Amino acid sequence: MGSSVGQETHVLMVALAFQGHLNPMLKFAKHLARTNLHFTLATTEQARDLLSSTADEPHRPVDLAFFPDGLPKDDPRDPDTLAKSLRKVGAKNLSKIIEEKRFDCIVSVPFTPWVPAVAAAHNIPCAILWIQACGAFSVYYRYYMKTNPFPDLEVLNQTVELPALPLLEVRDLPSLMLPSHGAQVNTLMAEFADCLKDVQWVLVNSFYELESEIIESMSDLKPIIPIGPLVSPFLLGIEEDKTQDGKNLDMWKYDDFCMEWLDKQARSSVVYISFGSILKSSENQVEIIAKALKNRGVSFLWVIRPKEKGENVQVLQEMVKEGKGVVIEWGQQEKILSHMAISCFVMHCGWNSTIETVVTGVPVVAYPTWIDQPLDARLLVDVFGIGVRMKNDAVDGELKVEEVERCIEAVTEGPAAAGMRRRATELKHAARLAMAPGGSSARNLDSFISDITIT
Ligand code: UDP
Repeated sequence: MGSSVGQETHVLMVALAFQGHLNPMLKFAKHLARTNLHFTLATTEQARDLLSSTADEPHRPVDLAFFPDGLPKDDPRDPDTLAKSLRKVGAKNLSKIIEEKRFDCIVSVPFTPWVPAVAAAHNIPCAILWIQACGAFSVYYRYYMKTNPFPDLEVLNQTVELPALPLLEVRDLPSLMLPSHGAQVNTLMAEFADCLKDVQWVLVNSFYELESEIIESMSDLKPIIPIGPLVSPFLLGIEEDKTQDGKNLDMWKYDDFCMEWLDKQARSSVVYISFGSILKSSENQVEIIAKALKNRGVSFLWVIRPKEKGENVQVLQEMVKEGKGVVIEWGQQEKILSHMAISCFVMHCGWNSTIETVVTGVPVVAYPTWIDQPLDARLLVDVFGIGVRMKNDAVDGELKVEEVERCIEAVTEGPAAAGMRRRATELKHAARLAMAPGGSSARNLDSFISDITIT
């Protein structure tokens, strides 16, 4: 399979224009950097302008290629509209890139389930890079392939019993499969399960030691191959080729002054807060969290998107003026998390951020909203044991100041917090070992490379 020995192997990676897709793909290419491997990352036109505005230098780890998603430039691209449009034009538009050059393998994110058929039509072997938890893969697979019974998904407090996962409620399941989500997106995940028949490898951004029971539970259904954590090599203590070091595919310019501020803070004294690249904070939410930080007297580094949501919150602005904290609109999250001043991460539980916090050994306050985040929160709290869950009030559905305070205290003070830190440190070491030569993920990556390069 693939090209013959000695010949250069060209891998085409396909991802949508989301930071949470581009990051694991880029890191995948970085970890596979070998003399005879060449990577092209194809994504939609929408990313072109954003990436060119942040990149001063060429992106050496990967070449970039862009294809139209079929929507007008100013379309807000809600997930349903995007899925529908790509279903129509994705295959045709991506084929143009494939026909320009010889590719030996295609590696796609799961949210473009039309890609494996395009690969099959061009006789190119295809892998999925599953960019969420193995646990999320297991839930989707079992639901869409009907291998396990599920309750009525309209009833959020119904329980769901699945192998190797804690007892879940419907509200913990990935929201894309729930009836409350758009029909197009629900169909998209059904199409994903179906496209697996055209896929040779399901690679996962996770590592065996983190999700071993879930991985084992899938081995008779659809084996999944953990090859992560797909984070920047420096985070794992791996020296990177100097030409690639620090080169990212950020869609926004990062604020760097926060690193100088962090350097001046005491060890484990700063709460880092970020809800990822997609979720937008409300002014009310910002105010509630800010009041909790003030009451507890803790310092903070906070990514607020859009930043305007923090500008009228007086209590926040006062703390910033007093030097108690810093607000940024985008930062170098991996560098922030690995800074010794960070004590905990108040997070939305996106899988990339989850993996990054595991690799850096930072305990979390989990505040999930949608997609796979509720399930990741269950994993972080109940399986990995490195965090607490922050919940909206059961009566009015709003976040409360006391709840934020309770969670920050629970994850930073007392014997339970010490246990979380200990567990987080163990997982950090396990993550490094998995990617070190001979480690579980490193072996899987080697085996994947030999599959695609040896005839
Ligand atoms: N990120 C970053 N700077 C920020 C906020 C986020 O570099 O200020 C990165 C973060 O490190 C992660 C990605 O953006 O790799 C977000 O992906 P995730 O899956 O956590 O959440 P999503 O944005 O997809 O909801």
